[in-house]
Amino acid sequence: MLHAVSFIGLVQSQLVRLSQSKHAPKKSSGLPKEGVIKFDIDHSDAILTAIERRSADRIKLVRDFLYNLHLVGQYLSGPYQGLGFGNVSELLPVQDQREDTLKTFCITGTQTGTIKALDSGKHFAVVTEYDFEKYRIKAHGCIKPSSEAITHAAIYESSPHIQAIIHVHSPVLWQALLLSPDDEVLKTAKDVEYGSYELAQAIRQLIKENQKQGWFLTAGHDDGLFFYGPNLVKTLELTLQVYKIVFKVSPVVIQNMKRLVARLETWNK
Ligand SMILES: [Zn+2]
Repeated sequence: MLHAVSFIGLVQSQLVRLSQSKHAPKKSSGLPKEGVIKFDIDHSDAILTAIERRSADRIKLVRDFLYNLHLVGQYLSGPYQGLGFGNVSELLPVQDQREDTLKTFCITGTQTGTIKALDSGKHFAVVTEYDFEKYRIKAHGCIKPSSEAITHAAIYESSPHIQAIIHVHSPVLWQALLLSPDDEVLKTAKDVEYGSYELAQAIRQLIKENQKQGWFLTAGHDDGLFFYGPNLVKTLELTLQVYKIVFKVSPVVIQNMKRLVARLETWNK
């Protein structure tokens, strides 16, 4: 895993340059349609099982914490005004996994970034099948899964060690890291758009070739970063590690984070 500290100086100098430059990186030309489900979906409104609901409870804690850091939320201005962003998922326990290679995961629902505190009974969906070639997924829950659910499936498919995924948006973090060299920060190509078939393919390739990395940036999906790891706690810790490159973290946040990690670690999965 790439250590954030190895390029803190680099990113900080780039942030200074960005703040001084009139030519900060432009948003992608030809604004991609964000927040829209691009894959075919076979969705039933069946409520979550007890095991699925427990996963939703855990994800909710992490997601609400990220909401308070504005890593998950809603665009209040700019070209994406009104759209929600960010999503979190977790693989369901092994005994609930299918016998074939497909992974089953619980994920935040579509356009829930606009909500401050999620309800685990209302705002989560479970993805039970996906097909990258046909570009379709099967899911259930009171709400459809995030429009980036197939991207999460692509990440889970890339490595058996990945059990949790956090996708955040941060214009500041994204712009600073976008300028970092490719061997310091993993990136998907600029012409690969959010939620696309090409993105799912590019991610699978990227992770397979960089097994030790735990995060990457989507150059063709404005402000987007994906973090992944062996569980929610490790994935959250990595997210915070990268977040701290650019943002100051108050003692209150550190305290809340410790409480959250303690709660997740004692939680019986
Ligand atoms: Zn996104």
